[in-house]
Amino acid sequence: MSDFPALPYPWQQSLWQSFYQQLLDNRLPHAVMLAGPRGLGKRHFARVMAQYLLCQSPRSESACGHCKSCELNKAGTHPDFALVTPEEPGKAIRVDDIRALAETQGKTAQQSGYKVVVLEPAEAMNNNAANALLKTLEEPAQKTLLVLVTDAPSAVLPTIRSRCQIRSLAIPSAEQSLHWLTPLVSGTDYNAKDLLVLARGAPLRARDLVHSDALEQQQSWLNDIGRLTLGQADAINVAAQWQKGDVTEQVNWLISWLHDLTCWQVGAEVPHIEQLDTAIKQTLHTMQPALLHRFQEKLLSCKKRLASGANPNKQLLLEELLMDWGVLLKNRQLRS
Ligand SMILES: [Zn+2]
Repeated sequence: MSDFPALPYPWQQSLWQSFYQQLLDNRLPHAVMLAGPRGLGKRHFARVMAQYLLCQSPRSESACGHCKSCELNKAGTHPDFALVTPEEPGKAIRVDDIRALAETQGKTAQQSGYKVVVLEPAEAMNNNAANALLKTLEEPAQKTLLVLVTDAPSAVLPTIRSRCQIRSLAIPSAEQSLHWLTPLVSGTDYNAKDLLVLARGAPLRARDLVHSDALEQQQSWLNDIGRLTLGQADAINVAAQWQKGDVTEQVNWLISWLHDLTCWQVGAEVPHIEQLDTAIKQTLHTMQPALLHRFQEKLLSCKKRLASGANPNKQLLLEELLMDWGVLLKNRQLRS
């Protein structure tokens, strides 16, 4: 681990202070749920908490980095720390993993301090796993901390949520994010502001976009939507192109596109819409807000379905959504 001991990100300072105060006051709960949009460093913060709790001579701001516990943590071999994740991203956390966890929870800590378990993403537990975890939460062992990390708290069993102290991370102010992000992306072809907008304000996501083709991808989606809007492209062909990529990302993009479009219609400044051809903008301007709103609801329910592990036919799903876009355009023409 290069950044050992891990420190909270600047926008996590108040979260850190409240954790630190709870520890000083001996009021640390048995289970904490770190919830909030992705790209805010929730998993990182869980690591900060774990390293701190396991350290034998912690400082006020961080773990010492030198004691035996820190050495074990650094090597990733601390016997009192466990990370529970799915075997592969997108798969479920299995009941066996939770049972193994319950067993270790029952034993005394080997380094005579805390025992910490980080479970993420918490929404990936299947029903059996969630019910098994519930038992652990009902009979918490002394000096143990369970940290559940999730982007989708509403997808976690309510009985589990209610047994955790929920710590919500919110999108930091643009000023704070830019202060952190700008030096990290200087010298690249990217502008920190553009990245932050594209990442919906999440600083770590914005940083990671530099190493992805997200900006080019956004341009290519915009071109496709533009051509569909002018009737120069066919929904089935565009869907065939799109289905080669990540459908969840495309649905997310459509959701944010619709959001931007409705804001732009009422006068907000949206640079990537402003830069479109005049003919496209004229068409977009006359689209019916109520219909856009209905389409947005459909997209959100699609997103929910995809997040719950549904595995629809990608081509059909995208065809349907892009044809809906065509229907919205047609209704505009009938009305105007
Ligand atoms: Zn230490």
